[in-house]
Amino acid sequence: MKKNILLLLLFTFVFGIFYTLLKLDKDERIDELLQDESKYLEISYKQGLDRFHDIAENVYIALQNDTKFINILAGIDTKGIDKTHKALYRHINDEFSRLEQLGVMGLQIVLPNNVSVLRMHKVERYGDDLTPVRYSLNYTNELKTHLHGFEEGRTSHAFRELYPLFKDGKHLGVMEVLFSSTRIQDYTMRASSIHTHFLVNKKVFKTNEWKANITEPYRQSIEHEEYLFSLSDHMQHDRLDKSNKTLITPLREEIDAGVASGKTFGVYKKLDDTVKIVTFLPLKRMKDAKVVAYLVSYTDSNKIYNILYRYNIYLIFLLVLLIIIFAITNKALHVNRTMKLELQYDGLTNVYNRKYFMRFSKKEFSYLDAKNRNFTIVMVDIDYFKHVNDDYGHQTGDDVLVGLSKILKDSIRSLDKVARYGGEEFIMLLLTNEEKTYTIIEKIRETIQASEFGEQKLKVTASFGIAQYKEDTSVEHIIKRADNALYKAKESGRNQTIIL
Ligand code: GH3
Ligand code: MG
Ligand code: MG
Repeated sequence: MKKNILLLLLFTFVFGIFYTLLKLDKDERIDELLQDESKYLEISYKQGLDRFHDIAENVYIALQNDTKFINILAGIDTKGIDKTHKALYRHINDEFSRLEQLGVMGLQIVLPNNVSVLRMHKVERYGDDLTPVRYSLNYTNELKTHLHGFEEGRTSHAFRELYPLFKDGKHLGVMEVLFSSTRIQDYTMRASSIHTHFLVNKKVFKTNEWKANITEPYRQSIEHEEYLFSLSDHMQHDRLDKSNKTLITPLREEIDAGVASGKTFGVYKKLDDTVKIVTFLPLKRMKDAKVVAYLVSYTDSNKIYNILYRYNIYLIFLLVLLIIIFAITNKALHVNRTMKLELQYDGLTNVYNRKYFMRFSKKEFSYLDAKNRNFTIVMVDIDYFKHVNDDYGHQTGDDVLVGLSKILKDSIRSLDKVARYGGEEFIMLLLTNEEKTYTIIEKIRETIQASEFGEQKLKVTASFGIAQYKEDTSVEHIIKRADNALYKAKESGRNQTIIL
């Protein structure tokens, strides 16, 4: 029993080790794939930004070198803002249509005092002071250097490229080219077939205007409570609701932790026939490098699906293998135990056999010390047993042997031992002195005499020879003396006990 538990512990331990190793390996490989996905997303994002920059740079060079344009802008002091606005609009309208084809969302010209003079994307709105809402305009006007990056406006967000405009070294204001996040999503879709969502933090908008403003389409992000989902042509709403339930909800805690870290991260979830990876790329705004938006990509990963599949197969295989090994080992142990027991006992009477008795008593003999000499051997022999066999048959003889063995066994303590010495002879080792042994044996002798054996209710008697350890040098020596005592008992008429 104890061995079974030990074996079970050992196998649990071995399974634990293999399980841990397999799991570590699986996690590490999945982690690498998640990192790869983050890299792809980052690369396609950067490629998008580079393209924005190239387009904006082109627009800037064209306008800065457009003498007519520069002159219109420089003439604002004399012509006034309304006329300048109109003239500028007329001058670059055609050019702007061409730019829209390239993905430009808006073009704005702002005066050195941050007052907007022209918004090509919202022509009717001009003359407003943008100082309180637009950090990057203030900054470009102040430092008169190129600036670019992500920035929210009053009600919407954009990627912006800002350039200072000059006439003969005189600062005229800022030209701003705006690109939408949808355009970045286009690049990721085209470049690497990555499906993306664009999220913007709710808090960046000072008001809740986004809620009322239908021209700037946002809705609650499924990915995070604090973020808005920027609607784009790429998104079907029913799909969004479906992935919210099956994909995002189970990943909620992981996503919350990732967003809290402010770093790029990826999470994955096994669906029916694929694994979805959701990668979050944080985007910082120009003003204070705070993370205010996320580009989130959704990709299928057959590789992770296969890793998970193989991992499960390995685990099942490992478990089955260990169970088989456990069962075999357990069986072998059991067989070993039964064999050991069989080697100790006499097949007919179920008391110890002579070989085991000798081994045991020799061991016990070696423990004997000067003080404790309570070591007594008793030889037992059934009287006239030959007649039993002759008159009633061998089977009845066997029944007597079995019955008598039981009486012997039941009459002694567990420390004492009884064994079949051979034929109808038994030997006993009692760890008591000869007087006490005599009392015990006499009781046994009387019990035998009073008993009936087998179906024929046969009556038998037995003779006993007792010898206690005295000056003996070996167990065999004591046995010899007990045997002599038994001989005497036989000689003296049988059915009696003699001490020698
Ligand atoms: P005594 O009183 O002098 O001991 O006479 P006895 O007949 O018992 O002695 P003896 O040694 O002449 O005979 C012993 C008999 O025990 C011989 C044999 O047939 C029988 N015997 C020995 N082993 C077995 C056994 O396993 N089963 C049966 N049924 N008989 C056995
Ligand atoms: Mg005999
Ligand atoms: Mg006999």
